[in-house]
Amino acid sequence: MKSTMQATELTITSLMTRGAKLFAASEVITWQGERARHGTYAEVYTRAGRLANVLRRMGVEPGDRVATLAWNNQEHLEAYLAIPCMGAVLHTLNLRLTPQQLAHIVNDAGDKVIIVDGSLVPLLAAIRAHLPTVMHVIVVGEGDTSALGDHEKYDEAVAAAPEEYDWPELDEWSAAAMCYTTGTTGDPKGVVYSHRSIWLHCFGVWGAFHLDESERLLMIVPMFHVNAWGIPYAAWMLGCTLLLPDRFLQPEPLCAFIQAEHPTFTGGVPSIFTGMLQHAVATKADLSSIKRAICGGSAVPRTLIEAFRDQLGIELIQAWGMTETSPLGCIAFPPAGISPDEEMAWRSKTGRAVPGVELRVVAEDGAALPWDGQSVGELEARGPWITGSYYGVEAPERFHDGWLRTGDVGVIDSRGYLQITDRSKDVIKSGGEWISSVELENVLAAHPAVAEAAVVGVADAKWEERPLAAVVLKPGAEAGPDELRTFLHGKVARWWLPERWTFVEELPKTSVGKQDKKLIRQMYNDGKFEVQEVGKAAR
Ligand code: AMP
Repeated sequence: MKSTMQATELTITSLMTRGAKLFAASEVITWQGERARHGTYAEVYTRAGRLANVLRRMGVEPGDRVATLAWNNQEHLEAYLAIPCMGAVLHTLNLRLTPQQLAHIVNDAGDKVIIVDGSLVPLLAAIRAHLPTVMHVIVVGEGDTSALGDHEKYDEAVAAAPEEYDWPELDEWSAAAMCYTTGTTGDPKGVVYSHRSIWLHCFGVWGAFHLDESERLLMIVPMFHVNAWGIPYAAWMLGCTLLLPDRFLQPEPLCAFIQAEHPTFTGGVPSIFTGMLQHAVATKADLSSIKRAICGGSAVPRTLIEAFRDQLGIELIQAWGMTETSPLGCIAFPPAGISPDEEMAWRSKTGRAVPGVELRVVAEDGAALPWDGQSVGELEARGPWITGSYYGVEAPERFHDGWLRTGDVGVIDSRGYLQITDRSKDVIKSGGEWISSVELENVLAAHPAVAEAAVVGVADAKWEERPLAAVVLKPGAEAGPDELRTFLHGKVARWWLPERWTFVEELPKTSVGKQDKKLIRQMYNDGKFEVQEVGKAAR
């Protein structure tokens, strides 16, 4: 028997027109270093219509890719709406990639137009000659365009275009946006989001992040990576005030923006929040307008969650996801009925799958493992906003019976809480047994002298691999390998205790601000670290 329900399409156009009609006066505030620029949803909607007319004049057809190389600002939001709603595909480019990687991605996607921030023109100019599919370039704001060649200015083009645009009816399954993986596991691959997947993901974000119209939402996560966790679309659907930090993503300007505009909610990776915490504590900056912050992208140390609660009065909530999962996959709220003493243990797990997403861990032979909190396996995910393939490449090794193989390794407990212990590429296998780098890093981060720690596996004559701990100490703090080993003692298995230690000023990061473990291993192998050896591997 069929249902009696209507078959309306779930499209970004429906989100866009809803936001424009219901929340015309809601604000979009872009930080400009010292002051904010104020816009409204009504203005963004009008300019999105004008932008769509500009792109149509440039020959953009349904399905064509239009790329953005841009920071978090109002114009980027206009592109987020105009491009998918005209039936084209928004391709956000990661501005931290090397010129070669960028050229590869633009060519792979076959981008027809690139919208670039004035401040990023040199990056584009350096590869412009190698982008044969790009017919037009639009420059937002000021910048040195002398080496760029033909281009139009965003503001002038938009001002000259009509504001009415006859938004087409779209198929909810059609491509709306695309983003490339950051390539930590092989070449970057294109993930293509549909209107439907983005729409459903908005519902996931709405529920999981507990958002509503009253929220003043600071978007620290870059709009060039995984649609800024889908937050712009969810915020627009709900009418939240959007606070966009533009290129001012360092702790100092972020804290200034927060004190000027009083956000209530934000999201970001642990490294950004660690920097903000240190800056706020050192300068006594008041960040207390923020009530909740979502943190993910890499494991969130328990000490960071505690410090946010105790020193800033902010509830820091861990979430897990990846480019392929749109990205929201799971979120770590404690289960109901948990006593305050136990709460932190649950909050520092990776979390439970949000409604719509299914997770499982599987053994090397592909068999699903029990949810016993002990059986370690590769995490697999399935759901309406999880990718089922990659753009233009066959990658059968990344899928298993309709599930995405995430490349993360972990355990799931009887209540469905996931704990990621490693990336499969980063696991440390010592004498045939796994050592969790995530757990070692978490415990090390709890030492009062430690600002940040990364643990990677390095070759060992006897055990095949042993952990190397690379540690950044807090300014002025002192601690040596003996002290840190003693600190780990009793908190992790004895045979996990690293014998190799290096103390560094900072840890190398990937283009999206995660610890670059591949590079840390490489630097170790190339003898770039001063390594201190203490103790012996215990068995
Ligand atoms: P990306 O596709 O660049 O966003 O990276 C996704 C990867 O980030 C995941 O596969 C995980 O390895 C890692 N990641 C994201 N969130 C978490 C988390 N809460 N804990 C541990 N790793 C995470």
